[in-house]
Amino acid sequence: MFAGSGILIGEGEESLVQWRAECCCGQLSATCLGEPVRVSVCHCLACKRRTGGAFSFNARFRADAVSIEGRARKFVRIGGSGVRSTYSFCPICGITIYYQSDAERDLSPYPERALKAGDALVHLAPDAGHLVHMPTHIDVLCGDYQSVVERNHAANRRRPQVP
Ligand SMILES: [Zn+2]
Ligand SMILES: [Zn+2]
Repeated sequence: MFAGSGILIGEGEESLVQWRAECCCGQLSATCLGEPVRVSVCHCLACKRRTGGAFSFNARFRADAVSIEGRARKFVRIGGSGVRSTYSFCPICGITIYYQSDAERDLSPYPERALKAGDALVHLAPDAGHLVHMPTHIDVLCGDYQSVVERNHAANRRRPQVP
């Protein structure tokens, strides 16, 4: 996403943040509901070329939380890791508004279904720090930040000590 801003809609516990990204001419826009799955900054050469800046700022949302208005043209870029991403930009002003990565098309809208398996993984090989860490990828998607902190601290304590 590019050049977005958020407003709160609804009231109390029913409220959600609605994010809107819009191109320079206003023809193409994306509206996203709820909190992003991930927010990142990237300084790779491809992002510098795409944005014209020193960094790209990206907010990732589940596909079912995003609605697009306007016409877009697309280009495909295959990253260094071999992952294919499709970028959508406004054909009038050229601003990229959204992209979809093949690596994330399978991101489940129901991460809570993996919580039980994650809990089992933590206890499967408690001296293997990476296995203690892995379930935190699910914990963070479910908003269990306390488990993220505790499990990552535990995983770090189990790292092999290099003399
Ligand atoms: Zn435009
Ligand atoms: Zn990048």
